[in-house]
Amino acid sequence: SPVEWPTRDLLSHRASTTPDATAVIDADADESWTFGEFDQRVGVVAKRLETVLSDPESGTADTERRLGVLMETRVAFAEVYLAAMRRGVTVVPLNVRETVTELESKANRTDLDAIVCESGTEALALEVADCPILSVDESGRDGVRSLSSLESAADANATPVPLERDRTHLLMFTSGTSGTPKGVRLTVGNLVASATASAFRLGVTPADRWLCCLPMYHMGGLAPVVRSMLYGTPVVIQRAFDPEKTARVMGEFDITGVSLVPTMCKRLLDAGWNPADSLRFVLLGGAPATSEFLERCRAADVPVYPTYGMTETASQIATATPGETATHEGTVGQPLVCTDVTVVDDAGERVPAGETGELVVSGPTVTPGYLTEAQTEAAFGEYGLHTGDIGYRDVNGRLWVLNRRSDRIVTGGENVDPGAVIEALRSHSSVEDAAVVGLEDPEWGERVAALVVPADAGGESADPRTIDLESLLEHCETRLAGFKRPKTIRVADSLPRTASGTVDREAVRDRLLESGTDVSELS
Ligand code: ATP
Ligand code: MG
Repeated sequence: SPVEWPTRDLLSHRASTTPDATAVIDADADESWTFGEFDQRVGVVAKRLETVLSDPESGTADTERRLGVLMETRVAFAEVYLAAMRRGVTVVPLNVRETVTELESKANRTDLDAIVCESGTEALALEVADCPILSVDESGRDGVRSLSSLESAADANATPVPLERDRTHLLMFTSGTSGTPKGVRLTVGNLVASATASAFRLGVTPADRWLCCLPMYHMGGLAPVVRSMLYGTPVVIQRAFDPEKTARVMGEFDITGVSLVPTMCKRLLDAGWNPADSLRFVLLGGAPATSEFLERCRAADVPVYPTYGMTETASQIATATPGETATHEGTVGQPLVCTDVTVVDDAGERVPAGETGELVVSGPTVTPGYLTEAQTEAAFGEYGLHTGDIGYRDVNGRLWVLNRRSDRIVTGGENVDPGAVIEALRSHSSVEDAAVVGLEDPEWGERVAALVVPADAGGESADPRTIDLESLLEHCETRLAGFKRPKTIRVADSLPRTASGTVDREAVRDRLLESGTDVSELS
């Protein structure tokens, strides 16, 4: 009978082209696997998943199955992810930091057929859903089966399901910065397009080793795994980010690239990180990086590529080069190849270069839609996906991201851009960082409120972390129109952030409501 060659998954393709090249390095255990070896391991996991998910009676194909993954970043996560890809199963990464209620909502909305967890998340998994719970670790707990206890002869490899570029292969949740996290459908085509376009911006060299230390339940953490499988270069996986350890791992494993959110990068520098010459790029995204911070990175020889990205585009939309950062302050650079960013006004009409509006993105990396049809319809327009982000492009097409549309504060009928208020607050010498939100106000509809983090004044001052509010208010008076000035201010040690590093505006709002100093009480 004729032999068929189905379109194979990414790892399988790699295993037959460069089987002896290093595929994955476990930075914690200092273990590594070639593409050939990793392909074998993934084959075994795929076979085990097949025994759990396949149900010949119901006739449900694996391609209709959804597998929750509730794990921290680790090699086993990559194995399960690639095994699911081999079987055509849709992977639903779940955030291990979330509460039972939050996870329950995600599990219900995605209708999971099984959840894969690890020792640390078994109890949580059992509470979240009543589907089969599997663990990548040994488990003695009732209701949890170890993957390794499932039948799988080494030679009984899973039946690969032909890879369809347009099938949803990943249901990735957004960070939930502006509300309940949204489930984003991503296809293999989206992921491959993202990896390819990224390579054209950052380049790929045979010596490349990408360190993955972001949570794999976010796009920034999973992307390096996909990329490694495509590029044929190793991904180095570190279980948990830790400034000292991560700095050491980067040196020890000759890391050439890493994705970080600004907070992590700052913590690395605070811990005395001194990047090695082998480091080619730090993809810095998820949240804006301030000019002062980029300046600090430049001084420390950190090759920073400021990046704008989102879950809906399988990570990067635009990425600036270190050179561009120096000449064009605050830019996130040009959109990646084949990605289009259109700037539109409130009526959805295109605006000219230099004018601010909502960013609308289109191209092969953009999701076909969200979990629900209603969400999808609400987000897509004539020019593509409405990001909810506000920004502008210069005449050369370089992009600047200012803030989110939903962040806009309307006070007494006036629009206030929180970014401008944050900038004014930050320019005061005693302020390190600030978050600005609108609080409900009986008179103005909303009033501007700020959570400020004091700068470390250093020196001999007894309490270096304080802010002279009177002086800060005077400072604002010379920089901001009355309606833009914060009416409520509170000082905090740090800004609350989501797992992906963006400022958690709901938490900021809660803290300000708890006990903010009303500015009127000061005078
Ligand atoms: P949700 O969609 O649930 O509100 P989220 O948008 O924070 O959550 P993600 O997809 O993880 O979820 O984050 C993408 C968003 O992060 C972008 O839409 C943008 O608002 C912000 N962001 C990413 N990179 C940058 C950057 N370089 N500068 C400014 N904002 C950025
Ligand atoms: Mg979003």
